[in-house]
Amino acid sequence: MVEKEVIEQKFLSLQPQAFSLLSKNILKHRLSHAYLFVGESGVGKHSLAKWLAKAKLCTNVDEDGKPCLICNQCVRIEDGFHPDVYIVGTQAQSIKVEQIRALKKELSCSGFESRQKVVIIQAADKMNQSSQNSLLKFLEEPNCGVLIILETSSAARLLPTIISRMQVLKFCELPVKKLKKHLLNHGIEDRTAAILSGLTNNFEEAISLAESEDFLNLLSLVQKWFYLLEKRDMQAFIYVGSNLVSVMKKKKEQELTLDLLRVLWQQKMEMIVKSDADSSSLQYAKGLEKILEAKKKLQSNVSFQNVSEQLILKIRSC
Ligand SMILES: [Zn+2]
Repeated sequence: MVEKEVIEQKFLSLQPQAFSLLSKNILKHRLSHAYLFVGESGVGKHSLAKWLAKAKLCTNVDEDGKPCLICNQCVRIEDGFHPDVYIVGTQAQSIKVEQIRALKKELSCSGFESRQKVVIIQAADKMNQSSQNSLLKFLEEPNCGVLIILETSSAARLLPTIISRMQVLKFCELPVKKLKKHLLNHGIEDRTAAILSGLTNNFEEAISLAESEDFLNLLSLVQKWFYLLEKRDMQAFIYVGSNLVSVMKKKKEQELTLDLLRVLWQQKMEMIVKSDADSSSLQYAKGLEKILEAKKKLQSNVSFQNVSEQLILKIRSC
């Protein structure tokens, strides 16, 4: 599959409603001049906003009007360097009225100019009242082929008059978050629910694992191994021999061990990335790679003991 198809598939599986609606609007040449993307952070609002900007400016769209993602226009949009795509980022505490005024000046069309332009305002709820009022005037008089996309996680902070002038697209929660929520509702405690939702996307399977004594025992064994590995403690070797190999006799258990280790490792990595302690996040990323490689080796019939011991050495050298 070419990259374009992979990306479209990804949007379709993560945000089926929003993506289908935009695709339909593009196909029928009925793009609205203003969209409001509503959803929690991390659900793909900004990726889809950039994709829509590409659909508008790509010089090589396919027969359905979808962007090629590889032409000069698409690449510049992706990299954030397109002169006609204005992105107001999320860094600032608030979006001030001066910013909106400056933006409007950039966008005002002069004479015969027919350049298509796109504005993306991330965290649009950071606009204060006067910023919103200033933007409102612009939304009331759409012109010059300007496409405006607002992203927000809390539409309630936007003026109703703004919302009513935009096509609103609701983004759903990601499957992992959705699954975790279901598990919590089912009475599974938070930590286990987080681990299970990283392990599988199958609700029934997650529930049956959570209710299995064997699984919970295995989880606590893997958790201890994870702590030793993380500290690069040589005890991890002894632990493999004395605690893991003797218990994980079946291939299925051995694979589950590595899968659980991957989830624990991944969660720690996400925590570190979020806390901006970037010096160790690279080490964790490399470690994660080693865990994935170990799983492949196990599947190609290298013994569990060998795979685990090699993994310890590899993680120590990351
Ligand atoms: Zn393109």
